[in-house]
Amino acid sequence: MMNLSKSLVWFRRDLRAFDHAPLHHALRSSQQVYCVFVYDTDILDELPKDDRRLRFIHASLAQLDTELRRLGGYLIVRHGSARDEVVALAEELGIDAVHAGTDHEPSAIARDLAVAEQLAKRNCAFHTYKDQVIFEKQEVLTLAGGVFSVFTPYKNAWLKRLAAHPETLATYPVDAHADAFAPPTGAPAALPALEDIGFTSGEPPLPAGMDGAEAMFEAFVTEMADYGRARDFPAEEGTSRLSAHLRFGTTSIRHLVRSARDMVQSGTGGTGASVWLSELIWRDFYAMVLSQNPHVVERSFKPAFDAVEWETGAEADALFAAWCEGRTGYPLVDAAMLQLNQTGFMHNRLRMVTASFLTKDLGIDWRRGERYFARQLNDYELASNNGGWQWAASTGCDAQPWFRIFNPVTQSTRFDARGEFIRRYLPQLAKLDGKQIHAPWLVKPDVLAERGVVLGRDYPAPVVEHDAARQRTLERFAVVKKVV
Ligand code: FAD
Repeated sequence: MMNLSKSLVWFRRDLRAFDHAPLHHALRSSQQVYCVFVYDTDILDELPKDDRRLRFIHASLAQLDTELRRLGGYLIVRHGSARDEVVALAEELGIDAVHAGTDHEPSAIARDLAVAEQLAKRNCAFHTYKDQVIFEKQEVLTLAGGVFSVFTPYKNAWLKRLAAHPETLATYPVDAHADAFAPPTGAPAALPALEDIGFTSGEPPLPAGMDGAEAMFEAFVTEMADYGRARDFPAEEGTSRLSAHLRFGTTSIRHLVRSARDMVQSGTGGTGASVWLSELIWRDFYAMVLSQNPHVVERSFKPAFDAVEWETGAEADALFAAWCEGRTGYPLVDAAMLQLNQTGFMHNRLRMVTASFLTKDLGIDWRRGERYFARQLNDYELASNNGGWQWAASTGCDAQPWFRIFNPVTQSTRFDARGEFIRRYLPQLAKLDGKQIHAPWLVKPDVLAERGVVLGRDYPAPVVEHDAARQRTLERFAVVKKVV
């Protein structure tokens, strides 16, 4: 029987036209499928005008539209509150069902509920599909049926479930059902320029769109075997840098997991492939943690840690500003913050080091750091960012124990031994040798001056003394000692 329905696919965190669950289901269940992306003013109004992520989205949408046109469809782009725009467009086009990928962020859940309610009043259905993660919500549970709060047993159960249900990784084809796309009418309308929606245009911060993702993945695959070692050294190109692509769905998580699993099984990825697969599982883990414990958005995963009293007031504000601007006097921390500020990316090791420094050396609330990262990171993702921050602050599930405190100098000598990464962002320290560069305040002033560095002029003296800060942190966390 011919299906006469009209569908609208609402693209959000899935800016691709292959292996796409909502698009696949819409094409298979409807006669005419329209596609929309909304530059959502409910989110955009909070962002700076030169936000790098907008440039990435803009370039990715252009590719998505080109690909949809190749398949016989096209992309409608709207600018406004998504809550209103989607409902209005559905009404305008006489849509019977809107299809989208499930989004587990609490604000997205609220938005989707509001949209579904409005659509229902107009006899229009709203369907969501798992598309961003491999296993969601309560799909991976403990033997007793509980939700995991420790990663390793979660990972083992995740792998077991995947082995039992390999169809989870099956692709959701789009091209095979492309005849259901509603064709463009009239001359192709240009997508809105970033200036049209109040943002500055420019090059995206990394190769954008489906092509960018695939090219980066292919390049990374050739380095996969060494990932287990290389991933810890920020001066090396040892990680995939695919996080922003995963965030915006320009690649498919199923495609990446399938490839990693095949490399593990065939042995072609060396030991690196299984380590990399674990990182992708961390992503699922934190998405699950958020969906099952939405209180983590505001509070500690472990309630006892809400009793920790963080530093506040003018001095804390000044230290926070020094941290944000890369002026703490700890070269690895500062170079990392400059990498973040200048590129929108920060290496995972450095995210751990800088988050630990903010919370345990400066005693500043992890939520302030989390918010700063959220504004700066190209790959900002609430679940992983919150998970990473609560891990570093020891307030999260399966977190770093509170009494284990990274020493920023030891981290520097271990993970940037020759100071290559530091020199990239702090050229004023370039003449210091591999030993001096990690802690310039320990170098005699005349030696420093010979190398062109005067502390306080060319580079700050440390804003805190690590051993004393460590002691204060142990005292600060004493409130949880009895509970944990
Ligand atoms: P790769 O090493 O190539 O890993 C592949 C993918 O696995 C990543 O792209 C990412 O999707 C996932 N992944 C890797 N490590 C983690 C992890 N620890 N937790 C969850 N997923 C992981 N990641 C984000 O995607 N968005 C964030 O906002 C974010 N904020 C973080 C904040 C802090 C304080 C910390 C400690 C970590 C954060 N991470 C975040 C995790 C991690 O740092 C990044 O995913 C990683 O650095 C991205 O680089 P990559 O793509 O080269 O990773």
